[in-house]
Amino acid sequence: LPIFPPEVLAVSTNVQLFERAQQSIPGGVNSPVRAFRAVGGTPRFIARAEGPYMWDAEGQRYIDYIGSWGPMILGHGHPAVLEAVLAAAREGFSFGAPTEREVELAEAIIAQVPSIEQVRLVSSGTEAGMTAIRLARGATGRSKIIKFEGCYHGHADALLVKAGSGLATFGHPTSAGVPPEVVQHTLVLEYNNLEQIEAAFQAQGHEIACVMIEPIAGNMNFVRASVPFVKRIRELCDQYGALFVFDEVMTGFRVALGSAQSVYARALPGFAPDISVFGKVIGGGMPLAAFGSSRKIMQNLAPLGGVYQAGTLSGNPVATACGLATLREITKPGFFEGLSAKTQTLRQGLDEAAKAAGVAWSSDHEGGMFGFFFTDSLPQNYATVMATDKERFNRFFHAMLDRGVYLAPALYEAGFVSAAHSEADIAATVAAARESFASL
Ligand code: PLP
Repeated sequence: LPIFPPEVLAVSTNVQLFERAQQSIPGGVNSPVRAFRAVGGTPRFIARAEGPYMWDAEGQRYIDYIGSWGPMILGHGHPAVLEAVLAAAREGFSFGAPTEREVELAEAIIAQVPSIEQVRLVSSGTEAGMTAIRLARGATGRSKIIKFEGCYHGHADALLVKAGSGLATFGHPTSAGVPPEVVQHTLVLEYNNLEQIEAAFQAQGHEIACVMIEPIAGNMNFVRASVPFVKRIRELCDQYGALFVFDEVMTGFRVALGSAQSVYARALPGFAPDISVFGKVIGGGMPLAAFGSSRKIMQNLAPLGGVYQAGTLSGNPVATACGLATLREITKPGFFEGLSAKTQTLRQGLDEAAKAAGVAWSSDHEGGMFGFFFTDSLPQNYATVMATDKERFNRFFHAMLDRGVYLAPALYEAGFVSAAHSEADIAATVAAARESFASL
């Protein structure tokens, strides 16, 4: 694996690389959160990664709890995945024609998620979410959509939106370059707020194409949609003929083999969303995402139906090899029990360390995804997440980074544990946390 040993790369420091990067790349990064703006300081330029570790350009090692923001559920460079990728690359990078491996990956996803009869593969979560909405609109013949504050579904124009001034008013763009008309059909409601969703359906239920949700929201740290909330949305969608879209780009094959929808189906027997969106884990670190639904709904897509969607690199043969090899590993018996136990151990260790230090703290996890807050009780929506102690989070983040633990560089991001994290890694993380809490 060490094709580029860190000592060879240690010719530039992170600071030097960041300065150089800012000359040729806006902000020095290709995705804003990587710039460390929320926490301050210099982003680490990663030279290589293996198992649960990443090394930066200066040769500093970190225990990685981001895992490329979710995909690296097996850790970095898992031998079976690496072999599959190398073998696929030898066969060809991209054909722009169908391959058997795409079918295998589609079948592998369908096999684990009972709500899905067909999937289409794309290259990013943004594309998958954007197309899921187009599909919902095409299938229902309606324009309006509901999303929730604090949920991120990628950067499609219609989804870069914040709540309007009143419940019945549609949203305002959160990004320059998005005309207000483009978000005029997007209604933004508070997460876990039953009264708001109720009122929205009462006011305009027959015009709503879909309700899109992160069932466990990982883009406001880690906030679960309550079971009554999910149940009521399902009922309202059924009553008014709207579609319920689960954005499982983060939670899919991460919180459970059957994804977050299987977690809700445990509490609500028979529960299923209408459309599901996947990314991250199903690509194992390669650009790959998907959306799926019933055969009936998916028949609306071109070339069968009138909803257009396409992609030069969709179902890319190297990406599908990576995704398939990853799914093969995580479907092995006991995988999720082991991953969940590891995450639980980490969480318990952090909880105890915080308690010992007398720090206001709460945490949650499901499968291999976790979150923590510097507040006594778990926030239920975006406003309460953002009201938690940001300064304290930032100090904790840097204290951990200084001790070789790489957490997400923003208080509104979730964390991820991989199967490669050992007991020793988790113990080292908890020890670092104990010191970090003491230093806050
Ligand atoms: N949906 C969710 C829930 C996500 O967390 C993300 C990315 O983090 C996306 C969609 C967008 O995916 P991508 O970054 O692959 O475009």
